[in-house]
Amino acid sequence: MVDAQTRRSSKTRLSRDEQIEAALRKRTRKIQDQYCRDLVRVANWAALQGLKKDAAALVKKISGINPQYPKLEDIREKVEKAEEESDTAKNEKNGKSLLTRLKSADKKQGVELVKLATGCMKVGLFTRAFDMINYVLEISPDDSKARKILGYKKDTKTKTWISTWEYNHRKKNFITKEGWFEKKKKKDFDKGLRPYKGKWISAEREKSIRTRNEYAPYTVKSEHFEVQTNMGRERAWEFALKLEDFYTQFFRVFIGYYDQIAGARLLFNRPETKKMHLVILFPNRNDYLTHVKQEKGNDKLLRESAGFYSGSDRKSRFYWSDNEEETYRTFYHEVAHQLFAETKSTRSGGSRGNNWVVEGIAVYIETWKKIKGNWVPGYEIDNSRMRIAQRFLASNGDWSLQGFAHIDNDQFHKVNRGLNYCLAGALCHFFMHYNDEVYKEDFVRFLSAYYMGKVGNDSLAEYIKIEGGGGFNALEKQFKEYMATLGEKKPEPEAEADPEDLDD
Ligand SMILES: [Zn+2]
Repeated sequence: MVDAQTRRSSKTRLSRDEQIEAALRKRTRKIQDQYCRDLVRVANWAALQGLKKDAAALVKKISGINPQYPKLEDIREKVEKAEEESDTAKNEKNGKSLLTRLKSADKKQGVELVKLATGCMKVGLFTRAFDMINYVLEISPDDSKARKILGYKKDTKTKTWISTWEYNHRKKNFITKEGWFEKKKKKDFDKGLRPYKGKWISAEREKSIRTRNEYAPYTVKSEHFEVQTNMGRERAWEFALKLEDFYTQFFRVFIGYYDQIAGARLLFNRPETKKMHLVILFPNRNDYLTHVKQEKGNDKLLRESAGFYSGSDRKSRFYWSDNEEETYRTFYHEVAHQLFAETKSTRSGGSRGNNWVVEGIAVYIETWKKIKGNWVPGYEIDNSRMRIAQRFLASNGDWSLQGFAHIDNDQFHKVNRGLNYCLAGALCHFFMHYNDEVYKEDFVRFLSAYYMGKVGNDSLAEYIKIEGGGGFNALEKQFKEYMATLGEKKPEPEAEADPEDLDD
């Protein structure tokens, strides 16, 4: 839960940052101790009621939060001596009461953490604040302040929390497995009719048109994306939901790509204008190639591609392959290009060399994976592109990072393109994850500078503050070592955000 910003600043940043860190640590410890105190009280009560197992679990929880908590040994002894109650009716009743007590402790801790998160935002620690707020929602899903900060509103009918966009959208629309439809068309929808060019026609007729005609695809709109496909409206909606999920994680990781205020707006889902990102999904490779030829002519590179994003018409395109994982890899890759390009105004034409960074960061995003519902950036270190880079570096000891950085756009795509992609992706993995993410922030700033047209051939070694100094050569050495040992320890899925993680 703690990001590199913290680790870094405690070592190298100015003393103002260090002071903020120290104050934050102190506050965090205080909140944790308060929480431990409440848990001790609940454990004590549980032990007296004969809920011995529950009490023991609480002791374990407390020692997980703060193994040095002063009253830990006392309560441990008490619980060990407690007698197990055998009356099941009594246990059931007490079990319910236990849950209420725990809930109230969680709620209290949530309130304190929201205050702390607000303080973090005031000093610009947005990612930390974002993670804290999300943790509060895990333990106390109904915390209205936390919900508000993340832009949720409560639907009074269903008693559920939804985004402000959805809240407003629900007024005139209803949701189905096929996305949103206007309420005033509910009867038509229920009769099996669907919209086509301003009219409502039978779903079968619509299908016969939309599955065959590339220029009359199914279209669905979610909060930030418009998806077009001949594969059916339900499929389009499924895809839109995947895109939305990816969208949030993208800003969490790349907040440093934006200036502070714009980044915070995007992260907390309050962009000034909501531009739709347009995505086209083709049912198969053939249809995709036909489209590419029609739209972009006989471009060799595109003919060989699995998808592409075009800045000129602001659309990303890819096709559904038999291999679902492959499809999603391409999908995250192209949408990453799209989000970097469309969420702030860029002029990358002004940068020199370093074209590897554009493809590299998209190839790197192919390594992101969702494990047990949580995104783990950089998880897939075994994918084929990472392996190719690893093997190449192992047998080409004279490969030069500086030389690679000087490659221009033309050369990057014309000479050893496939290998360049792999090396660029591996380099980004290195910059994003090396040594507890020590370079991540500098690197995201470099990425941002590239897109803003401010990067020259040798800028990489200026942007990345290398521990111990040493410029390109030192970075190259670290990169090669990183790749040689990558996979020896696979990154653990990010542990659940325990309060103890707030403290670094
Ligand atoms: Zn690409």
